[in-house]
Amino acid sequence: MKKKDASTKITSLSKALEEHNYRYYVLDQPSISDKEYDDLLKELMSLEEHYPELKQTNSPTQRIGAKVPSGSKTVKHEVKMYSLDNTYSIEEIKKWHERVLKGLDGEKPEYFVELKLDGISASLRYENGEMVYGVTRGDGLVGEDVTHNVKTIRSIPLQLKNSKQSIPARLDVRAEIFMDHKAFKALNAKRREQNEELFANARNATSGSIKLLDSRITAERNLKCFIHSFGMLEGGEVIASQAEFLKQVKAWGFLTNKHNRLCQSIDEVIAYCMEFQEKRDALPYETDGVVIKVNDLTQQQILGHTQKAPRWAVSYKFPAQQATTEIDHIIVQVGRTGVLTPVAELKPVECAGVTISRATLHNFDEISRLKVNAGDRVLIERAGDVIPKIVKVVEKKSKGILKVPKKCPECGGKVVKEETDAVSFRCVSSTCPKKIERALVHFASRGAMDIDGLGESIVVQLMQEGLVENIVDIYKLKEEQLLNLDLFAEKKAQNLIKSIEQSKGRPLSRILFALGVANIGAKAADTLAKRFKTIDRLLKAEVNDFTAVDDIGVIMAESLVSFFKDTAVRKTIKELKAAGFSFKEPEEQLISDKLKSKKFVFTGELEDMSRQEAGALVKKFGADIVSSVSKKTDYVVTGKNPGSKYEKAIQLGINILNENQFQELIND
Ligand SMILES: [Zn+2]
Repeated sequence: MKKKDASTKITSLSKALEEHNYRYYVLDQPSISDKEYDDLLKELMSLEEHYPELKQTNSPTQRIGAKVPSGSKTVKHEVKMYSLDNTYSIEEIKKWHERVLKGLDGEKPEYFVELKLDGISASLRYENGEMVYGVTRGDGLVGEDVTHNVKTIRSIPLQLKNSKQSIPARLDVRAEIFMDHKAFKALNAKRREQNEELFANARNATSGSIKLLDSRITAERNLKCFIHSFGMLEGGEVIASQAEFLKQVKAWGFLTNKHNRLCQSIDEVIAYCMEFQEKRDALPYETDGVVIKVNDLTQQQILGHTQKAPRWAVSYKFPAQQATTEIDHIIVQVGRTGVLTPVAELKPVECAGVTISRATLHNFDEISRLKVNAGDRVLIERAGDVIPKIVKVVEKKSKGILKVPKKCPECGGKVVKEETDAVSFRCVSSTCPKKIERALVHFASRGAMDIDGLGESIVVQLMQEGLVENIVDIYKLKEEQLLNLDLFAEKKAQNLIKSIEQSKGRPLSRILFALGVANIGAKAADTLAKRFKTIDRLLKAEVNDFTAVDDIGVIMAESLVSFFKDTAVRKTIKELKAAGFSFKEPEEQLISDKLKSKKFVFTGELEDMSRQEAGALVKKFGADIVSSVSKKTDYVVTGKNPGSKYEKAIQLGINILNENQFQELIND
């Protein structure tokens, strides 16, 4: 292709891609399939690769993200980003309304109301319709340059739409960037799987994501953005009110909140506040109040600002889902690995319609941060379906703070301090009954050995009766012994014995997870079992052997080695073998070996099957699944919303297959 033609093609592809992007993320009305979109994007990427000099600053390929050099840049806001005064009651809203009436000399204002989202405020600069930069609010005067991350947010246009006349020469729109409940849950689920620290709430997750240096990760976080106001607006059509502004903003291609409403009276405003106070839990994102604005921009100017905040706007904060109560006592729970977790037992208190009698204290760091002890009066908070937490001590009634127990509260064993990514305290006694109990419950649980009928209460009973002291004892249980226990009729006893017997045939991956090796979750156990195939190979493996496996890091490898070197563990394994355990991972039935040892990476959502299913499918042809793209990768299969792996594949020139091509390869 000639350079001139390439240039024309790049322009038309960019335009088409941004239009499809807008239809998908803003209008929610896609007009082409994800595959077609991907094909266009790929075409653009390859053209940009051939003609880097033709690459536009706001190319749709920026949506995928890139790694930027460290050292963040700050940008001064040309127009200050004010914060708003808060009101907490209908009376306060009415008082504010009185002040507005006074300021307007009795002229009657219309009000525009918007939900206040719990996200990150930012200012986005456009010049002649082109995005120039995105900056966080910071202190209102100076913010952090987060342009590269903002560009990955698909509902933010890189170029404004609509007629030339309507587009201002210079524009700062004020945005609230947020993560909805769905994206937040998915992110934490992924982090849990990978043993990474969880985000406490969606706001923290948003804040973390928007400040990342690698925008490829930001691109995967599914951030959203609503526009709510402007800082600077020069040129373009004259806008007379907030309602008109938001209408214009929509026409430019931004996303605005569909619950925004124009109100004719303060009573309507109050009704809106009450309506959403009720509905807030049903919304797909976190909201903590309502922003009330005088609609008319001239009236806004007349009212002006104080030092801190505009006089023409105020926020109404929903009552916090908080309450105060007293801590009866703090119990220290012992988990299956011996970690001590303090939990506060509270005098029952009503909080947002729910009676609360327990709150988590997470760990002993949290106790020293809160300076809390039993007897103190505390403020507790509930958010959505999360376990209530203690926000602060409101009245110190006890002396000092809860000390870390020197001995395990369950067994009196030695407690050791451990510092990994957080400080934790563990009971290190191998005979601690609570640890054993928790470990046995885990062992028998659904995702592990799946022993039907061996739940928590039965485990406790068996231990109390002295019938079970360790995993191996489970396999020595006799029906007659069970019949002597409370709550065990003949049928139930038979069933339990049967399910215990059946569990001996579980695959190695399940057993490995059930044994509870530190830092090894179900997924890692599966990977290890598929790679090592037998327990004997695992027992002999060294750190290097483990780290050679994809997805197994050094911490995991060290945990594995110390676990399998432990004499008690080796004894257990030997006894389980004697009890009839095969410890084998079933070989996957191969359909053919036409993809033997080919390395596959999957990215994005496939339409006809899940990634797991697709993975299982290629394995049946002898292929291997790897998690990251490298020169050794043979194929990268891409679905909807492919991540950074896709870009990497292009850089490295790996074979990229869309879903159709993948099906062809399999069915050929
Ligand atoms: Zn203990």
